[in-house]
Amino acid sequence: MLPKPGEPLCIKVHADDNVAIVANAGGLPKGTVFACGLELQEHVPQGHKVALTDLQQGEAIIRYGEVIGYAVRPIGRGSWIEESLVRMPVSPALDQLPVATGVPAPLPPLEGYTFEGYRNPDGSVAVRNILGISTSVQCVAGVLDVAVRRIKAELLPKYPNVADVVALNHTYGCGVALDAPEAVIPIRTVQNLAVHPNLGGEVMVVGLGCEKLLPTRVSSTADVVSLQEKPGFGAMIEAIMAMAEERLVRLNGRQRVTCPLSDLVIGLQCGGSDAFSGVSANPAVGYAADLLVRAGATVLFSEVTEVRDAIHLLTPRAVNEEVGRALIREMKWYDEYLARGQVDRSANTTPGNKKGGLANIVEKSLGSTVKSGSSPIMGVLAPGERATQKGLLFAATPASDFVCGTLQLAAGMHLQVFTTGRGTPYGLAMAPVIKVSSRDSLKEQWEDLIDLNAGGIVTGEATIEAVGWELFRLIIDVASGRKTWAEQWGLHNALTLFNPAPVT
Ligand code: CA
Repeated sequence: MLPKPGEPLCIKVHADDNVAIVANAGGLPKGTVFACGLELQEHVPQGHKVALTDLQQGEAIIRYGEVIGYAVRPIGRGSWIEESLVRMPVSPALDQLPVATGVPAPLPPLEGYTFEGYRNPDGSVAVRNILGISTSVQCVAGVLDVAVRRIKAELLPKYPNVADVVALNHTYGCGVALDAPEAVIPIRTVQNLAVHPNLGGEVMVVGLGCEKLLPTRVSSTADVVSLQEKPGFGAMIEAIMAMAEERLVRLNGRQRVTCPLSDLVIGLQCGGSDAFSGVSANPAVGYAADLLVRAGATVLFSEVTEVRDAIHLLTPRAVNEEVGRALIREMKWYDEYLARGQVDRSANTTPGNKKGGLANIVEKSLGSTVKSGSSPIMGVLAPGERATQKGLLFAATPASDFVCGTLQLAAGMHLQVFTTGRGTPYGLAMAPVIKVSSRDSLKEQWEDLIDLNAGGIVTGEATIEAVGWELFRLIIDVASGRKTWAEQWGLHNALTLFNPAPVT
């Protein structure tokens, strides 16, 4: 049933919830009476929680059917549950989690869907035909940026089947403790980025000549331009451009061919979340994730600090004991990583999240993990590892948008689906990013940045299922070459390595 325009609307997600969130733009004033008879005792901003019952001091506040916190003082029915009234619960203990106890039955296969992609020499596919130029160290970034500007201006117009030339610049390579155990993360990330499927296997590396991370360690088989061997700047640029052109010729000879969806690796992420993210955009993404899994694709969900407080809902879905243990291993590693910095997962939530109605990381996590849909979790990747399996995988990454994006690229992600409530113009150079908004007002504000709006789910004008199918079809179109808004504007964020090891 469609609510009338302007009619007060509050959304309760789960039957057990004792709170709902106010849906109307601008919030609702004191005295507002909802169809259910609930009357607001004070102004409640959009996306923020209202108590559906009288809550005693210390009583559990329940959203998504889970405890998101405890009332710090009595809260009357119809009152605004402002963030400071919610005491955060402790995270679920990691040593007593149910593992593989509720493995969902495999979803029925979904057949007959294909996309138009490029077939790579190693059998993988690409959804974009991009020349990527890898680097072994940050020292070369300035020279490479100049070379890439000239390649784009002077060479790329001659090779119209190649979409772009991307410098894989990063901050690693020297001044770092290469032998520290955790250096494995940035090193394998750089290695796996070099062989990203959207780069067509045409690897080349620009190095300096004295760095710690040898170019041969980035790629043992690729050609290398070593700047210290060149007689001056002009010769450096000439060498990079000549090596790039050989690869442009080969990449330009490729044509899109029909590929099964099972060749795709789709990454899921959220950023700038609000209280609607878990109601509209993330459930629709979860529905699309199930469709992709049913079609045989690989789907990655990530963001450890946004999974940690919902881990008790995920370990039962692990396909077996080993995968469940791997999930717990990644949570433990991250707990310890945060503890070394004398913080915990509550450091995740941003002022914008809170303004958008998310009281704490527990509430944010419950909304975030909905993206994973309902299929069994088939595998776990440590940060920077490459996916080699089909189905739903947990790729452990920080929640930071650029770091998560970079690590999902290292995992071999062809295309990313990114949900946002507050709005961010985020993009990646190596893979298209489909941005999905959680509410109508963001789509209206950013018509030329948001690719798909899930806000209709909030107002009742659309269903999770309908938006999920729309997203699934959009993923196929974008994989086949349709440009996202970020691609049309040339928007992308920098590759940002995750380096938990010491810098020297
Ligand atoms: Ca994020």
